[in-house]
Amino acid sequence: MERLTDISVIKGIMERYGFSFSKALGQNFITNPAVCPKIASMGGADENTGVIEIGPGFGVLTNELCRTAKKVVAIELDDRLIPILGETLAEYDNVKVINADVMKTDLKALIGEEFEGMDVAVCANLPYYITTPIIMYLLEERLPVRSVTVMVQKEAGVRICAPLATRESGAVSFAVRYYSEPRLLFNVSRGSFMPAPDVDSCVIRLDILREPPVKVRDEKFFFSVVRGAFSQRRKTLANSLSSALSLDKSTVNSAIAAAGLPAGVRPEQLDMEGMAAVADALYELKL
Ligand code: SAM
Repeated sequence: MERLTDISVIKGIMERYGFSFSKALGQNFITNPAVCPKIASMGGADENTGVIEIGPGFGVLTNELCRTAKKVVAIELDDRLIPILGETLAEYDNVKVINADVMKTDLKALIGEEFEGMDVAVCANLPYYITTPIIMYLLEERLPVRSVTVMVQKEAGVRICAPLATRESGAVSFAVRYYSEPRLLFNVSRGSFMPAPDVDSCVIRLDILREPPVKVRDEKFFFSVVRGAFSQRRKTLANSLSSALSLDKSTVNSAIAAAGLPAGVRPEQLDMEGMAAVADALYELKL
């Protein structure tokens, strides 16, 4: 296949298939030839690895993954792209394209069926309208994957990778660090896509942890405390938690004290252990 990063090749495909980009589906295709080889190699696509790609588009990253990985399964929601991918991936026999919504796909079953005996990694240029839900779905399912390497909007990447107990940290930073070790790999400018989005992007890699960094009394309750803590960023932890979880202030204050934290502590001052201690203390007080 001619280079899928060439604007003339992309335009040729669009003309032949009568294809136009869907903004609603987050279709910004990569045109910078340096980006896909970097995502594939830094995402760990090698001869022992099976790769799940989300949203192959015209298959620009898929081509690179097929060249370097043992097997690729690409999940694409837009059915207009399926015949196009049939053409752009025709030279590979280690790829399977599935026409489905990734959020409605049983990825655990898919991994069992398609990648037996292989290490598994996820690599993707994610549709931006649904970045965080996809990342959380991949993590919460506790899939047997080694890593998730994805392109996201720069601002989202910074928040996802933010160290805890810093101004940039938020509920998503806690959720991501409960399941993985995140790292920002490199930035990608908005001019690297067609059509060009309004913002720059970055590629992040999440290395999946075998065990969460803390052992909490109740995981579901822990995450409701994380969400509640950051529901009103400017308020103190006590105020945010009492209003988000409908608890009286004295109960929340007792939990914060039991966790060994100062009364006026703010959510962005908490690390994972601090958040877990507050959640566990609240859980016990509520029993
Ligand atoms: N991988 C291509 C590239 O880098 O040029 C396209 C990336 S584009 C940012 C996102 C792709 O995800 C589009 O092809 C879009 O149709 C697809 N997509 C959007 N929502 C999806 C979903 N829920 N499940 C699977 N694919 C989806």
